[in-house]
Amino acid sequence: MIIKAFKVTLNYFFRKKVTITYPEQKTPRSERFRGMPCFVEENGKKKCIRCGQCVKICPAHAIDLKKYQIKSQRCIACGLCEEVCPVAAIKLTNKLAPPTTRKEK
Ligand code: SF4
Ligand code: SF4
Repeated sequence: MIIKAFKVTLNYFFRKKVTITYPEQKTPRSERFRGMPCFVEENGKKKCIRCGQCVKICPAHAIDLKKYQIKSQRCIACGLCEEVCPVAAIKLTNKLAPPTTRKEK
């Protein structure tokens, strides 16, 4: 029984490790990964024309157009804001929301 258990241990010991030391190392993300949205800039200016459609459609009320801010703790990365924007001024990135201990209002 013990020999059988050791055999399993030794077998895994010499295999390539599947764990990583997050956050220093990160796993590769798929191209279709949905991360935090951001406002697109062109020539140093935001492309946004402030039509407000993204604010209206956002189910999590995560977009603040006054400050051009997306509340990362509220956003559920649904991608509706990107879909509805008529000038492609907001797009999803492959970045995760930064961890926090505070709840955003
Ligand atoms: S991805 Fe969805 S939840 Fe996040 S800001 Fe856009 S519409 Fe709102
Ligand atoms: S939908 Fe696009 S253009 Fe309209 S307010 Fe949102 S980011 Fe700006």
